[in-house]
Amino acid sequence: MASCSEQQGQTTIPMTAAMQRKVMSENLKDVRHKLFVMSGKGGVGKSSVTVNLAATLAAQGFNVGILDVDLHGPSVPHLLGSHGFVRVDNEDGKLVPVSCGERLSLISIESFLEDKDAAIIWRGPKKVGAIQQFVAGVKWGALDYLLIDSPPGTGDEHMTILDAIPDAKCVVVTTPQEISLADVRKALDFLKVVKADVLGLVENMSYVSCPDCGRKIYLFGEGKSEEAARRHSLPLLAQMPIDPALAALTDDGRIEDFSGSWLDPVADALEKAEKRAD
Ligand code: ADP
Repeated sequence: MASCSEQQGQTTIPMTAAMQRKVMSENLKDVRHKLFVMSGKGGVGKSSVTVNLAATLAAQGFNVGILDVDLHGPSVPHLLGSHGFVRVDNEDGKLVPVSCGERLSLISIESFLEDKDAAIIWRGPKKVGAIQQFVAGVKWGALDYLLIDSPPGTGDEHMTILDAIPDAKCVVVTTPQEISLADVRKALDFLKVVKADVLGLVENMSYVSCPDCGRKIYLFGEGKSEEAARRHSLPLLAQMPIDPALAALTDDGRIEDFSGSWLDPVADALEKAEKRAD
């Protein structure tokens, strides 16, 4: 147990890590599936995958929450066109996520900021505290899916989430380019070291479909993500093409209007993994 600390004449007894974990786990007790979406590199489409999957699941009738722990570069609110603010519930003092439709809710640092261009200039401990608050102090309620979007890499945010939500299943998003795959290998090594449960890889920007004949053009080559997945004994769960419609809708903040979904296998893999764990 951590020792009591004297602060300005008041004695405060800090929560132990174990107590904190219990509070976080208790707050998520009505969340069926937790999916942590990671990538090695930025710009590979991790947030697009998170939001596209969330919107698809919500359209299928599931209750979905998105927890955006990309504190320095939150893009989920932009992708969803969400300008709402988090509010505090007067009764229990918990944070109420921003509603992004009937079945989709969101917590992102951006939903606390008046000035959306303001930089978050925080060191590790402050980031850890904020993320723990997002897990323990938010009224997530009964959710079928909680999707957690993260910054690229393997830093404080990732360690904090996997510590706070040890039963989260992980997917790693990559493009077929070697520069992305090199960082994916690091992300997979990190997940192995922390003994996280990894569902598999998602390859984004795999190909472009020729608008005239429909032929798939593999701009960045074929088979490299499959090879990376095989080397780690993981499945390549989905391959998403480069789609101008997706790019335009994300720029307009209307990703939920996107009709193409290549991500059903991710939801299936999650369902199967949870069944195995039961
Ligand atoms: P990350 O979260 O990995 O940084 P984002 O999801 O923010 O990446 O995507 C970066 C940009 O790439 C966004 O503007 C998004 O619209 C675009 N993008 C992502 N995936 C695709 C795709 N499959 N087709 C077209 N544009 C895409």
